[in-house]
Amino acid sequence: MSDDRKTLEQRHQMSDIERLRHSAAHVLATAILRVWPEAQFAAGPPVENGFYYDLEMPQRISPDDFVRIEEEMKKEIKANHPFEKMIVPREEAMRLATIGRLGGLSERLGNASKFKIGNLQDIPEGEEISLFKNGDFLDLCAGPHVMRTGNIGAFKLTHVASAYYKGDEKNPQLQRIYGTAFKNKTEMEAYFAMLEEAKKRDHRKLGREMELFCFDDDVGPGLPLWLPRGTVLIEELEKLAKETEFFAEYDRVRTPHLARENLYLTSGHLPYYAESMFPPMVLEEGGEAKAGEVRPAGDRYYLKAMNCPHHHKLFGAVPRSYRDLPLRLAEYGTCYRYEQSGELFGLMRVRAMQMNDAHIYCTEEQFASEFQAVNAMYLKYFAIFGIDRYQFRFSTHDPKELGKKFVDQSALWIKTEKMVRDVLVASGAPFVEVPNEGAFYGPKIDIQIWNVIGKEFTLATNQVDFAVPARFGLTYKDRDNSSKTPLCIHRAPLGTHERFIGFLIEHYAGNFPLWLAPEQVRILTFGDDAPLIESAELLRAELRQAGVRVKLDGSTDPIKAKVANAEQAKVHTMLVLGPRDLEAGNLSVRIHGKGNLGAKPRDEVVAEIFASIKERRA
Ligand SMILES: [Zn+2]
Ligand SMILES: [Zn+2]
Repeated sequence: MSDDRKTLEQRHQMSDIERLRHSAAHVLATAILRVWPEAQFAAGPPVENGFYYDLEMPQRISPDDFVRIEEEMKKEIKANHPFEKMIVPREEAMRLATIGRLGGLSERLGNASKFKIGNLQDIPEGEEISLFKNGDFLDLCAGPHVMRTGNIGAFKLTHVASAYYKGDEKNPQLQRIYGTAFKNKTEMEAYFAMLEEAKKRDHRKLGREMELFCFDDDVGPGLPLWLPRGTVLIEELEKLAKETEFFAEYDRVRTPHLARENLYLTSGHLPYYAESMFPPMVLEEGGEAKAGEVRPAGDRYYLKAMNCPHHHKLFGAVPRSYRDLPLRLAEYGTCYRYEQSGELFGLMRVRAMQMNDAHIYCTEEQFASEFQAVNAMYLKYFAIFGIDRYQFRFSTHDPKELGKKFVDQSALWIKTEKMVRDVLVASGAPFVEVPNEGAFYGPKIDIQIWNVIGKEFTLATNQVDFAVPARFGLTYKDRDNSSKTPLCIHRAPLGTHERFIGFLIEHYAGNFPLWLAPEQVRILTFGDDAPLIESAELLRAELRQAGVRVKLDGSTDPIKAKVANAEQAKVHTMLVLGPRDLEAGNLSVRIHGKGNLGAKPRDEVVAEIFASIKERRA
């Protein structure tokens, strides 16, 4: 996707750091040409956390060459050359490319800038063609850049990969040199420290070590299997969602995992979304045909990729009146999406996922308060999970794209966007507005969150949908007995179990708060005398009966080893019971990551555990 050509409009939206990183790509090319003047460059965009430049030359660049290239980059930055823009006619750009001047330090006769020629041909007729020059390096580029090379405060080359020109495997394979750049050294050091920490917290690594989930080739790629400890996380999250939604007046529903083709034709997922769905299951026999209807042999079923069409059917299943609205239908629905195998990534990109889904059917008048309540639910969850950095990304339509990229109902777009904007402003939650990125049938709001070490993550998407209810013929009887179409809000504050748990594992580094911890309490006896074991077993049973996930280690291992084992397993609370504790009616409490809290009366300890779980304390 990163190979896709950006529109001029998207380029102008480049953030400051993206400009800086893209500028660093020009500096990288300049440096490489100082060492290998024959190198041919293709594209050098900013990417998440950095930049790259694709190039072709006979030598393979390896990380051993980085020092040498970085030295040349430093010189170019020190020279503090301005990025000078020149607008040229297409013929002039083509002439410069033919003599090897584009993506070069000088004319290179006999070595035409072949990839730049290809890029040039992709620029639509009538679009401005611009060149940028820093020092001797001249490049075909639409910008934008920083003012001068000296604005690049800190940079580092990170790795080499290969990539096809324009991402097409029929094209030549190029070398892709990745790097990153920052305003200053401090920011860069913080970034690399964060990466180090992120490696330790990688949910795939912790998921394996903590026995939370696994994948199996026989089951299939992207289809996670949840071990008992991971299942605990799922069930605790569901409990939280169900409680929260119950108090927010949602109704729960259940729907099957597959449906006939026709459902997705009605919803519009087919044919447009077909690539992201598993291929259909074709039944041998044709389905029951109504009289006179010709149904081709082979009824087709699809695994569901979205819960919405099913919920719409439930809305339509009974006559609805304005008194039923707002109607909030919730389900932790399982969806299946055919993600490309190269895109699969731990729990973050999977092919089977359970979504904290709900669809709110409401009138226009109810929209603002409903949407506000959804936002409040997000904030409530953020507080529980200690997510203190978040942003709402509000994507709107572009009037020029009505009837193409966006459903052609200008007035409804303008009205709903205003409603959403008003709620966002009133809620005081941080948000940015992104034009031309709404969903087909209404504006959408992506929620971005950052974990404790500053890693960004897209949690969920809310959508306001004013088109699909009509496609499904959903109506309610209004006060005046007229039939009206409801609005629909799609929302999923906890995203999918898979992504959200992936996030939580990294956010907490596997050290879950007590209410969420797979093993909440472990009782460790100091020795294995019969009265000790008996008392420990009573305590275990009492906690277990109260719903606490508790284990007893009554083995003959020395206490040090028992503690080490429990710490290793990231057990939240360790209760040490020795002869002296027993006599005094105490328990010695140890909390994972916090250490020993000393001896406390048994009943006090137990009450504290119950309260912490019930209140879902951090
Ligand atoms: Zn550029
Ligand atoms: Zn939906």
